[in-house]
Amino acid sequence: MQDLQALIAQWDGEFVASTYDKQTGSWIFLAIHDTTLGPALGGVRMKTYPTPADGLRDAMRLAAGMTHKWAALGLERGGGKSVLAVPQPLTGDKRRHLLHRYGRLIAALGGTYACGPDLGTTPEDIRTIGDMTEHAHGWDRAHDQPLDPGPYTALGVFVGIRSALREALGSDAIQGRTVLIQGIGDVGVPLARRLVEAGATLALTDIDGDRVSRLAGQLGASVVAPAAAYTHPCDVYAPCAVGATVNATTIPQLACRIVAGSANNQLAEVEDGARLHARGILYAPDYVINAGGAAALPPLTAGADKAAVVARVEGIERTLDEIFAEAREAGEPTAVTARRRVERILAEGRARKEQAPAG
Ligand code: NAD
Repeated sequence: MQDLQALIAQWDGEFVASTYDKQTGSWIFLAIHDTTLGPALGGVRMKTYPTPADGLRDAMRLAAGMTHKWAALGLERGGGKSVLAVPQPLTGDKRRHLLHRYGRLIAALGGTYACGPDLGTTPEDIRTIGDMTEHAHGWDRAHDQPLDPGPYTALGVFVGIRSALREALGSDAIQGRTVLIQGIGDVGVPLARRLVEAGATLALTDIDGDRVSRLAGQLGASVVAPAAAYTHPCDVYAPCAVGATVNATTIPQLACRIVAGSANNQLAEVEDGARLHARGILYAPDYVINAGGAAALPPLTAGADKAAVVARVEGIERTLDEIFAEAREAGEPTAVTARRRVERILAEGRARKEQAPAG
């Protein structure tokens, strides 16, 4: 318990709402990092951690990441994230009980925070949470069906690749460009289809060999062995599987001009941004280029017009154009520029809040 207190006391976020659920032996951690720009929005992760403190630490780290994501895009959202730290995978009544308890906690916050699906939770879980609160995004209530963020994340990555091609290679034409997608899951598959339709020469890699062969056959793409992903010559390396694939070991091997994909935390450490820059490889900051799904879920849940949602996601292209231009002028890594943009937008938001009449 002291661990939890110490973590919260050291945190630079706004607050943590937490409760222990005896019936399932689970901890609920709801971390609100920064609501300067608007009510917090971030996914709910269900996972087994070595200790409750590890779960809390994860929630706080991920909440800060969401603050950056929303600020970089200039959306009126704050950073927040939840962790349901379960002792073992939960099913049936126990899962439902925990999700309802979590939903009541969100409801008690009166709109300060809204959740969506994340690692370990499904759109069906969001529907269950939605029994208790309207602040749960990821289930189409009007048609009673799941909403899939993957295609919207893929659209954001697609327009982000266009922006990066323009910056690095002087033309955003996709026709004839070679793109390697690492990970053909919820995001990688729709991204692959879009790229092929636009005329890209596609290479695919995935640890699931059967899946990758099948999709490559359908799309006329080539297959690259997972171990060869970092040395495969291409214009764009699109990491769409796991984090930290861009690191001190892989960067010297990369045979691409651009890194632009959906995976979270692509850089293993901050220095990797500078390492890419030194090699002349353009990096599309992950939390900007992969925000399409997160940005799309709330309006889709509310039944917004699809065209408006698509336009919102396509805005990622302009945001990246601005980041690339500023990085070029400053002669610095794009990761540094993106971070400064976040700080600037948050500072402007704070100044606006201070000037606004109290009421
Ligand atoms: P997914 O689980 O549907 O697909 C991941 C794919 O990567 C799987 O096919 C898996 O076999 C493959 N894979 C795993 N490890 C690999 C490795 N070492 N090498 C090659 N392939 C590997 O996941 P997803 O929803 O498509 O998300 C992909 C990435 O994008 C994740 O990092 C996720 O956090 C991030 N992301 C996803 C979304 C979204 O809307 N789904 C939004 C933002 C960020």
